[in-house]
Amino acid sequence: NSITTDQGLPSNTIMAIEIDNSGIICASTPKGISKIDPRDLTVHNYDVEDGLVSREFIEQSSFKDNNGWLYFGGRNGFTYFHPDSLKENKFIPPVYITSLTVAGEPKYFDKPLYELEDIELGYNENDFSFDFVALNYINPQKNQYAYMLEGYDEDWIQSENRRTAFYTNLSPGKYTFRVKGSNNDGYWNEEGAHLALFIHPPFWKTWWAYLFYAMVFIIVVYMLRRNELRKINLRQELELEHINAEKMAELDKEKSKFFSNISHEFRTPLTLILGPLDRVIERLRKEENKTDLSIVRRSALRLQTLVNQLLSLSKLESGKMKLRARQENIVRLTHLYLQSFHSMAEDREIKLAFESDAEEYMVYVDTIKFEKVVNNLLSNALKYTDKGGEINVSVSGTTPPAPPSNGSDSVKENSSVFSPPAAAGETQRGQETGGIRITFSDTGTGIPEEDLPHVFDRFYQVDEKQMKTTLGTGIGLALTKELVELHQGTSSVQSETGKGTVFTVILPSGKDHLSADEIVETGKHTPDTDDDLLNDDYLFMNEVGAETKTKSDVPGDDALPLLLIVEDNEDMRSYIKSYLEGDYNIIEAEDGEEGAEKAVEHIPDLIVSDLMMPKMDGNQMTARLKTDERTSHIPVILLTAKASRESKLEGLETGADDFLTKPFDADELVARVNNLVHQRKHLREVFGRKLSFMSSPGPDELKDSGITSMDEQFLSKAYEVAEREMSDPEFGVSAFSRQMGLSRMQLHRKLTALTDQSASEFIKIIRLNKAAVLLKSKNATAAEIAYDVGFNTPAYFSTCFKEHFGISPSEYTGL
Ligand code: ATP
Ligand code: MG
Repeated sequence: NSITTDQGLPSNTIMAIEIDNSGIICASTPKGISKIDPRDLTVHNYDVEDGLVSREFIEQSSFKDNNGWLYFGGRNGFTYFHPDSLKENKFIPPVYITSLTVAGEPKYFDKPLYELEDIELGYNENDFSFDFVALNYINPQKNQYAYMLEGYDEDWIQSENRRTAFYTNLSPGKYTFRVKGSNNDGYWNEEGAHLALFIHPPFWKTWWAYLFYAMVFIIVVYMLRRNELRKINLRQELELEHINAEKMAELDKEKSKFFSNISHEFRTPLTLILGPLDRVIERLRKEENKTDLSIVRRSALRLQTLVNQLLSLSKLESGKMKLRARQENIVRLTHLYLQSFHSMAEDREIKLAFESDAEEYMVYVDTIKFEKVVNNLLSNALKYTDKGGEINVSVSGTTPPAPPSNGSDSVKENSSVFSPPAAAGETQRGQETGGIRITFSDTGTGIPEEDLPHVFDRFYQVDEKQMKTTLGTGIGLALTKELVELHQGTSSVQSETGKGTVFTVILPSGKDHLSADEIVETGKHTPDTDDDLLNDDYLFMNEVGAETKTKSDVPGDDALPLLLIVEDNEDMRSYIKSYLEGDYNIIEAEDGEEGAEKAVEHIPDLIVSDLMMPKMDGNQMTARLKTDERTSHIPVILLTAKASRESKLEGLETGADDFLTKPFDADELVARVNNLVHQRKHLREVFGRKLSFMSSPGPDELKDSGITSMDEQFLSKAYEVAEREMSDPEFGVSAFSRQMGLSRMQLHRKLTALTDQSASEFIKIIRLNKAAVLLKSKNATAAEIAYDVGFNTPAYFSTCFKEHFGISPSEYTGL
């Protein structure tokens, strides 16, 4: 067994050894004296600090005296001691943590550190050092320390006699700093001292920060989601709305269509009621019967007006109604339209007055539509004003730009302007030069405030009860408003119940607000400009009655012209027939198909056809007839219930020659039928005369005659056939019609219709014309030429020639 520095000796060189009385070995080394307990081989070293004279001792220089004192010789003298005095320091020193230095600065707490159980540090106070001490004052430099930061250090750190523990860059969390110390003799205070410390996480890493983050995150996610949901919702809503709007529009369209269809349906029977009724009234002698019937008549007229209003409204709505404005003196017009209300006003003992601040205001208006406006407003005023009331109509200029509602009337201001933004903009443009204000004020019942915004709505009536007492449907104002807007004007109302009502219409002056096709040049006659729907004239026309019916001005032909009536309504057919009988031979057909068949069969001189019919409608039939060589020349009059401009155009394209809108005035029909027949007759007379002096008409001449290309083709073909075949004396009507692909009758009627010549005459004229040409150019005798062009005998040729040209062939050659 050897004892070396491993066991604690300061050096492996032993200078001298003494054994004391208790058996303890004391040995001197070059680095002090060591005490070795042979029982447990523990080594205890002593140094200069312990009182040695010097560290270095000399070899073999030791002594033990009788009293047990030990002497060791060293370089600077000897050291002696009694072994018993080498008592070990067994004091276990208390250990204290004395101070904390954070980032080089001492950190203080409200109590001394050793009194504290735990401390807390900020997240940025994580570079620090602890100072500690063991309170052993004997050889304190030999005190030993060990420390450990639980939560960071894995094990104890032996710091020898260093009294500071450094830590840098600790992460936030809980730690316990423990330190133990020993005295100079290695007696450890195992308990030592400890201090719990908590390094706070930075505020952005605290739990509440995390909670906050989480909450923010959740909120953000929630918001995003909600936003998205809302967007989706919105989109869906929009889509739905869109679909709804589309559906509504479709429904509206269907409704309008239904309205106009049903209204059309009403018009035919109405015509049939009114026409005959007028004739009956006319014929009646007894007054009381007349009054009864005039009630019937008034009701029918009322119904007709309603139907017409409905139709015009649906037309207005679908944008099909066109403005046809002309420059007019609005003062004169208004006054004129007012006149017709005087008698009615008188009856009801209402004063009807008119005033204007100028003689003349020129405004572009569609007179028919403007009349409607005035009529509606005036009839309302009369309708809703009691006996003894007053109605005032005034026309005045507005100063630009005039707000429509600055009514200076005594009536309480209670106005609402009904004008869509676009139209208002237009109006503004028109009003740059000012506008014309027409007011209709009455002292009638007035309109309650809550109803004011609605009076311009369709079918809106203020008081349901009124409906029973007064005749009305609530369309009047809706129509009025639309008509005014068509003029780019505005309509408004102010009213106070019990006091009266003021309707104001403002029409822009000038014509900048109108498009070119809305303006009709003054003085220029434009046929069909008047919208039949708005034109109530036929009502008055009916009053003219049957007597005035114009007699046929077609000169008395032997055979009356043949007329084909195509109409599915039997009553209508006989109604039409009743007017045309006597002047015409009439055949009838129930629908377009039958009409077309009969037309081909009989080749009538004129066809009057309804537009809407089963199987084949009027347009189709016309188209078919006009493209058929046999019938292309027959003029067609279409009776259209659809008064729309389009159906007229449609009809024109298929070749109908004229139109009448149902309900029509029978006299007008008669007039138009006569007119067409007459016109045709005139044309063919002219053409027939021309034919007499021509060998073969050129295309230009044919065009001049006013016949269509179908007829042109037909005639060219007829000429061709006749010229080719004429040298054959056997060539007659039968051969001609066979070659033309027509029956004798068809050919005959067609030729007569176009040239006023019968088929045989036609052939004869062709022959004679040819002969005339030959006589002039060929050196042949009249007899030869007569045979050439198919005459059987030269004598007959001469007679015919003279008859036709007025001179004999020989005279003609000599000319
Ligand atoms: P229609 O004119 O179609 O025959 P109507 O006169 O009842 O029927 P509108 O002219 O559109 O319909 O008028 C709508 C409603 O406004 C009327 O029912 C009436 O209650 C009210 N009204 C219109 N003008 C006046 C007025 N001058 N005084 C009082 N109320 C009026
Ligand atoms: Mg009305």
